[in-house]
Amino acid sequence: MTKIYDWIVIGAGITGSALAYELSKLGLEILLLDQSTDGDRATHYSYGGVHWYGTSGDRGTLFHEGKARHEQLSNELGMDTEFRAVEFLFTVDPGQDVEYTIAAYQQMSDPFQMLTPQEACEIEPLLNPEAIVSAFTLQQAQVNPILLNQAYQQATIRQGGVMEIGEVQELGKELDRSYHIRTSEDSYQAKNVVVCAGGWTRQLLKQAGIDIPIYFTHAELVEIVNTDKRLSNFIIPSQTQLYQLETYSSRPELEFLWDEPGHELAPAIVDTGAVQFLGGRLLLGQLSRTVTDPQAQINPQRSEKEIRQKVGQILPSLAQEAGTWHSCLVAFVHQNFAIMGAIPKREGLYVFSGFTAPITLVPAIAPRFARQLIGTPDPLLSPFIL
Ligand SMILES: Cc1cc2nc3c(=O)[nH]c(=O)nc-3n(C[C@H](O)[C@H](O)[C@H](O)COP(=O)(O)OP(=O)(O)OC[C@H]3O[C@@H](n4cnc5c(N)ncnc54)[C@H](O)[C@@H]3O)c2cc1C
Repeated sequence: MTKIYDWIVIGAGITGSALAYELSKLGLEILLLDQSTDGDRATHYSYGGVHWYGTSGDRGTLFHEGKARHEQLSNELGMDTEFRAVEFLFTVDPGQDVEYTIAAYQQMSDPFQMLTPQEACEIEPLLNPEAIVSAFTLQQAQVNPILLNQAYQQATIRQGGVMEIGEVQELGKELDRSYHIRTSEDSYQAKNVVVCAGGWTRQLLKQAGIDIPIYFTHAELVEIVNTDKRLSNFIIPSQTQLYQLETYSSRPELEFLWDEPGHELAPAIVDTGAVQFLGGRLLLGQLSRTVTDPQAQINPQRSEKEIRQKVGQILPSLAQEAGTWHSCLVAFVHQNFAIMGAIPKREGLYVFSGFTAPITLVPAIAPRFARQLIGTPDPLLSPFIL
């Protein structure tokens, strides 16, 4: 007889892996399904930044709770996630409104330290002092997102959860009221299904006739695995453009274009950053586009050149290092931090996706959402509920 799971979680990136773990911790029978063992999932290419600066109110509670969860996750999950304090270094480039940027950072209650270009180069010798007019630093944290994801998956399996590989092609509900999930290889049954498919969430639900306001960027970066160079800080621009790109591209009047392939809804942006993990792996990026086709063909040579050229302005020696271009899809929602909850008129079908800052927030929100799924409503989640 076919096994009927309590929950099938579709997508084994950070959102699906953490939620599968939290559901299995509650004693539920879980199947975590993914189309690939590793692949080009966004979690694999994440910088792993864990941050809580500039947050307050209920959201601040969730950000701080995320940080606190990370502090004990290696112990709880039984695997080192390489969570550690790191200095975030925010660069201010000459094209920016410097007064405005300084005022914005000083307005936050966090103790940012403002640096001249020379002072910034003393703590980060790879920086080009000519390319910045100022910098800010603040201690936040970083985790290795690949290890974090594996840790959640292995702990889920230890708790009795099952993980299978297969591309979900159909989400169908049968007369017996259970969900029948068909993949390229097999089919599975569950009482409930939660879609955590990152940038593919929109397409997967659309194929099932479900419209949810969730979108995706094509993110591109350069990965360097063999290098003697050592970056001391987590380098990010003081004014990132990603949020503006997402907000602009997900305006209600553009909604219909998301269902037609071939549109680029705004010019691509590059948020010039660089991070390094313990062990030396470096990521340079990040170029983001809102192209409406998840399978859109991107010109890797042109993108890599652009990323290297932009990163090369502030970190010239890093941009010369041999590396590999990658791209992945990253889910987002319009002017919110996530979308989650029951899909209307589809009893037993849920979504948990579209996170901003998932590396910080998901470890805090996944246990809350798991408890909500078994009947304990959580007021802190209400702003994100579908
Ligand atoms: C360069 C870069 C840097 C970033 N830095 C940070 C950072 O510092 N801090 C931070 O918080 N966030 C960061 N992010 C964002 C963050 O990494 C992502 O938003 C997050 O990892 C997404 O997780 P996810 O589970 O939603 O998606 P994914 O990791 O993409 O996982 C989705 C999974 O669903 C599977 N899937 C999709 N469709 C199907 C299907 N039909 N059947 C079966 N499986 C399917 C995919 O194979 C995939 O494994 C960064 C992103 C990028 C690209």
